[in-house]
Amino acid sequence: MRTIVAFAVAFVCIGATSDTPHVVEAPGSGKLVFDTSTPAGFTDNLDEALAKAKQEGKLVYVCFSGSDWCGGCRELEREVFAQPEFVPAVEKDYVLVFIDSPSDKSVLTERAKKKNPKLVKEYGIDRYPAALILDGDGNMVRRTGYMAGYSGGGAVEYAKHLMELKKPATFAPYVLETPVLTKLVFDTSIAPDLRKWTEEKLAPLMSEWVVKLTDIMASDGWEPPKEILFQFVGKPLNNYGVAYSMGNRISLWDHWYRENLNGAALGTTIHELTHVFQNYWTMGGSMDYCPSWVSEGYADYIRCILFEPEADGCGIVRKNIENLHYNGSYRVTAHFFGFVESRYPGTMKKLNAAMRNHTFYDSKFWKEATGKTAEELEADWKSDVSGAAPTPKVEDFKVKR
Ligand SMILES: [Zn+2]
Repeated sequence: MRTIVAFAVAFVCIGATSDTPHVVEAPGSGKLVFDTSTPAGFTDNLDEALAKAKQEGKLVYVCFSGSDWCGGCRELEREVFAQPEFVPAVEKDYVLVFIDSPSDKSVLTERAKKKNPKLVKEYGIDRYPAALILDGDGNMVRRTGYMAGYSGGGAVEYAKHLMELKKPATFAPYVLETPVLTKLVFDTSIAPDLRKWTEEKLAPLMSEWVVKLTDIMASDGWEPPKEILFQFVGKPLNNYGVAYSMGNRISLWDHWYRENLNGAALGTTIHELTHVFQNYWTMGGSMDYCPSWVSEGYADYIRCILFEPEADGCGIVRKNIENLHYNGSYRVTAHFFGFVESRYPGTMKKLNAAMRNHTFYDSKFWKEATGKTAEELEADWKSDVSGAAPTPKVEDFKVKR
């Protein structure tokens, strides 16, 4: 840590601009210390801050700054962080963290030089200043910034804004009834900017596919879920996933969605929606009869073969198929399933039912459903891949009500 001890009181700079080093009093010494670019009352050590927050039941406020080049960052720092009333007003509820990305790296501690670029990437910071509210486990609770709640209102207003953020997000879900039993609930409370896209694109598509999947994935005695929650979440620390499903809840990482709205966002959500419909693991599951290559392959089969067949059959071509196996999971298995269904219509429905009823055994299923073993089907699949096997279509699964 670059620490310069100063003796001249003239350097006390409440209301410091980021051009000047922060001056804090060295504990008990009566001396003034020039420290890093970290404002007084903040730390640049996120790990320690999280541990402290967890222990003391606080939240963590993380400001991502560019202290020597970003005008808004300097203003936030000067008008808010450096004002004497700010830290006392928030410190009983928040541990304050300052993650700086200055042009002049010499104002950073050695740890910050190494860690800050990683944190910027991990939390998807693309504008400055950015501010996140994390819980003690590093989960993002809220995302805020500089204008939100501040708008030139100074330290008192900004402290009030942070007190507002402490309350649980107002849950104002977008709810959609579908023609089948399922009710869809969309929670965009941590990502209000995604609300419009959710209402205009995501919700109508999910409603449409809930109806389709109710047909495609019907099996005896099975009822479609009554309600599914789609919830945007902040990405947990060290978790590199983009979306996941658990029971009837689908969690969507807000930053990844923001970047992929016109790309893989919808397809990814179709994959997760399929997992909700599979519901293979209720009543206990075992890898013997609920292997994950089948559930993942089936979810990608819905996505790649039925939802976006224009995506070119999961990217499986003659060039790469030789080294692949039918149980390669995800897109590989999805492509194999598409082939089998096109040759033996109805097989996927049987497969889904067997997985749900826990009667799927790889060694017997294929022979019973198609008359061929998995190995024989795999050989047919490989020799067929350059040929134009008819791809099953959603309409093939239409159930008469
Ligand atoms: Zn999956």
